[in-house]
Amino acid sequence: MGGRGETNNNRDNEKVTIYPSEIHTYFYCPRMYFFETFIKKRRGFFSTLRLLIGRAFHFSFRLRDITKKFSYEVPLETSLGNIKIRGRPDAFRIDGNEAYIIERKSSKAPYRGAWASDVMQATAYGIIISREKEIDKIKIEIRYPTKRRLFSLDSYLVSNALKAVSDMVLVKHYGIVPFANRGNRCRKCPYREECFLLDENVEVELVEVGEWIKKISLLDPESKARG
Ligand code: SF4
Repeated sequence: MGGRGETNNNRDNEKVTIYPSEIHTYFYCPRMYFFETFIKKRRGFFSTLRLLIGRAFHFSFRLRDITKKFSYEVPLETSLGNIKIRGRPDAFRIDGNEAYIIERKSSKAPYRGAWASDVMQATAYGIIISREKEIDKIKIEIRYPTKRRLFSLDSYLVSNALKAVSDMVLVKHYGIVPFANRGNRCRKCPYREECFLLDENVEVELVEVGEWIKKISLLDPESKARG
C-alpha cells in the first residue's frame, strides 16, 4: 500500500507554476512546449546569438523605462487554485485604476496586429496585475523593433490565456503530448526529429490538447473572429 505522498490525490493537490514565457511557447507550438518542458535541448550557436540580441534589445530600453516611470522586470505572481502564474513583465506602469504593460519582441512584426504568442504572454502579465493590484483597465503594447501594436485586456484574451494555462497543466503535470502546430516553423525546430517520430504510425485522427490554438489570430485585432 502506497503512503500518502504517493497517492494521485496528493499529486492533484500540488501547485503547478506556469510562466508567461511558457504561454508564449505554447501559442507558438504546444508540442514544442512539451519538448521544452521534458527534454529541453541546449541552444545552438544561432539560437544563443538570437537570445543575446534579444537581451541587448530589451536592455536598450532601460533608460526610457526609468524616465517614463515604468517598472521593469519586477517579479509578479498570482494564484488560481492549484496554479500559480509567475513572471516578470518587460515593463509596466500603474496609474490609479489603469495599467499599461509593454512586451518587447526583437522579432519582425506581422503586417497587421501581433503574433498570438506575444499577445498571450502579455495577457498573462495582465491577469497577474489585474488580480494582484485589483485593476480592471489594462492596455497591452507589443513593441517590435519598428512597430508597436496596442490591445486592451478583454474577455477574449483572458479566456484564451486561461484555457491555455489549463491545457499546460495537463502537459506539465501529467505529461500529455499536445498538438503539433506544423508549418514553416518546423524547419528550424530543434525537436523536429523527435516530433515527427512521435506521430509516425499514428493512423487515427486524434483531437489533441491545444488543437484549438490554430483558430486564434490576433493579426486583425478588430476581427470578430475574436468573439
Ligand atoms: S517540429 Fe514543428 S510541430 Fe513539432 S515541435 Fe517543432 S515546431 Fe512544433
